[in-house]
Amino acid sequence: MSLLKAELIRLIREEGPLNVSRYMALCLGHPRHGYYMTRDPFGAQGDFTTAPEISQMFGELLGLWAGAVWQMMGEPASVRLVELGPGRGTLMADMLRAARIVPGFREALDVHLVEISPVLRQAQHQSLAGAAAPSWHDGIETALDGPVIVVANEFLDALPLDQFVKTGDGWRERLVGLDAGGELAFGLAGAPETSLTMAAPNGSVIEQPAAALAIVATVSRHLAFHGGAALFIDYGSVRSGFGDTLQAVRRQRHVDVLAEPGEADLTVHVDFERMAQAARRSGAATHGPATQREVLLALGLAERAQALAARAKPEQAEAIRGAFERLTATGATGMGELFKVLALSHPGLPPLPGFDLHQMPEQA
Ligand code: SAH
Repeated sequence: MSLLKAELIRLIREEGPLNVSRYMALCLGHPRHGYYMTRDPFGAQGDFTTAPEISQMFGELLGLWAGAVWQMMGEPASVRLVELGPGRGTLMADMLRAARIVPGFREALDVHLVEISPVLRQAQHQSLAGAAAPSWHDGIETALDGPVIVVANEFLDALPLDQFVKTGDGWRERLVGLDAGGELAFGLAGAPETSLTMAAPNGSVIEQPAAALAIVATVSRHLAFHGGAALFIDYGSVRSGFGDTLQAVRRQRHVDVLAEPGEADLTVHVDFERMAQAARRSGAATHGPATQREVLLALGLAERAQALAARAKPEQAEAIRGAFERLTATGATGMGELFKVLALSHPGLPPLPGFDLHQMPEQA
């Protein structure tokens, strides 16, 4: 049994069942046994692979995007480039290399990283050695100051959420407790949640991503007052719906959500419709959501891949074409379609690069 599982069982015996957000928060962020606190989970040998780890082209295009946004902002002499959940620091390193192409941009920006994991902070330190002297933050509040450009890839999907299940007597919160054998098991709160009144068939699940919505709202308020833009990229849906999206992944395979707490990555799908609504209510303009494929192609991924492949050895050229296919793949399992991109900006900015063709109607 994992150390965290033993601790969770003890906690539930003492305090009663945990709600799903507390379970997620402990699995991912427990100071000693949390998933992100103890390991570097990326890469072929790790648990999952993210877009910046697939190809440097991803970060380079985002670096050029940030440079174009900075020009739209009127080229402020000082701007914070803030990344939420930077993983190994690969995305930021690739962005900064590309940022040098935009005259004056690299000199204007300071790098600020929001990261809970000490292991990954160390990896970020190494990736950025010689390229930047970043400041690290535990939370977003201190990271935002003055005009900002914010990027977050696969960050919102790691933030804890709560779940409610429709029953004969209303919506009841889903909890993690113990079964008769003393094993972790899902159950329901005794009393219904009277604030939830949506009609749905019994057994329907609804998710309340309070932490992600709070981050989007905080970024949006800041953009509205101080200027700038933000880019959120994640696995998720363009439209809100019902459904349990909590999943656990270990060594590139799905595993039971309760089986290996602290040893498997836990994620949820991001509800981009609700994120966009929260952003608009907090004063930001929204761009998209569009699919990762649409945005990367609009930012020039095909041209970039061709240019790189033309200069590369045959084997490298093959790898570049493979990365292009993977980042833009369509269909049920294709990253280009499953991943969505939502940009937020100060309402005074024009349509942002990557989204010129994909304006969604306002619906807040
Ligand atoms: N953006 C990276 C990593 C994605 S994994 C990439 O694309 O490769 C999620 C990242 O968010 C990790 O760096 C993880 O440690 C960090 N993280 C997860 N929960 C967090 C939280 N509550 N606050 C700050 N960082 C968090």
